[in-house]
Amino acid sequence: MDFRGMIRKLAGSEGSSLFSSSMAIDLGTANTLVYVEGRGIVLEEPSVIAMENDGGTVVAVGSDAKVMLGRTNRDLTVIRPLKDGVITNATATLAMLREFFARSQTRRFSMRPRVLVCVPSGITEVEKTAVKNSLERAGAREVLMVPEPLASALGVGLPVAGAPGNMIVDIGGGTTEIAVISLNSIVAENSIRVGGDELNESIQSYLKKRFSLLVGERTAESVKITLGAVTEGNTEDMEVSGLDLINGIPRTYRVKSQDILEALTTPVGQIVEAVHQALEKTPAELARDIVDRGIVLSGGGALLRGIDSLLEGETGLPIRIADNPLACTVLGAGIILGDLYRYRKLLLD
Ligand code: ADP
Ligand code: MG
Repeated sequence: MDFRGMIRKLAGSEGSSLFSSSMAIDLGTANTLVYVEGRGIVLEEPSVIAMENDGGTVVAVGSDAKVMLGRTNRDLTVIRPLKDGVITNATATLAMLREFFARSQTRRFSMRPRVLVCVPSGITEVEKTAVKNSLERAGAREVLMVPEPLASALGVGLPVAGAPGNMIVDIGGGTTEIAVISLNSIVAENSIRVGGDELNESIQSYLKKRFSLLVGERTAESVKITLGAVTEGNTEDMEVSGLDLINGIPRTYRVKSQDILEALTTPVGQIVEAVHQALEKTPAELARDIVDRGIVLSGGGALLRGIDSLLEGETGLPIRIADNPLACTVLGAGIILGDLYRYRKLLLD
């Protein structure tokens, strides 16, 4: 490394491995991921917390709390403190972040870390302040923010600094966010409040209407992951247990992929429509780039079987699923942390 490179590296590591530490966090509606410089992803947990109603003692967080969803009792509330990517329950978010930070720490963290957080691109000033306050109260020394689509695009290896336009479609828990990126910024975007949660809800209402079967959010999600597909020709089935609405007793039904295909038609159609709208909003020159370069899918919803071929058929454009759809946002933020100077244009003020 030449002398200037060394100075840059030292300057960049002010706040990183030499003196204290830096971490990146993807605080998602469904999942929270933490990346620590020099260590990579150290935490990947559902954004869920279980707290006692009386006094707010934390009973469980992450996957331990997620298994309690739908099993709330008089003494305990299981909370998902984010909705559509923004904080809706500040107390629960803070308690959850404190626990996640504690789990991500090593002795090096005796210094308060600098934290780079990924936020929805449409975030308001008020929502930004809420995120900043929560992170500071949880222990951050300094809070930096990056719009999620830019972090995800870096994380999947797209050339965000170049002039040609790239489109990324992130299907998360609460929202689907579509962005066209060129020259380090988002030049066109579209966001809808339809994501993985909505697919679960559609499965719940379908089972209720078709079989009079009442199932919880977690059961619906596992049905989606096991049987969910948006293209014809899948012949799997599985036993699904729930409460029979007619006589009020537990019952098990055998549900087929074909049923779930039907259940998912409406929300998946909305996602396809949102991609069409984003393409319409894209300036002509950049739209031409996307015709050549195609679209990248990220977020957990990109794992829904057939979503790539469905979108390919609907748009006529090549579709690629990110290598690591659930982690690409935090991995991109980790890349930014590694060279804050180089990526400074991606950060929000
Ligand atoms: P967020 O960034 O909003 O926290 P994620 O990108 O972590 O969301 O994605 C979470 C969503 O992805 C959930 O709704 C989850 O059910 C869904 N998901 C995860 N795996 C799969 C899968 N194999 N098939 C379909 N959906 C999936
Ligand atoms: Mg996300």
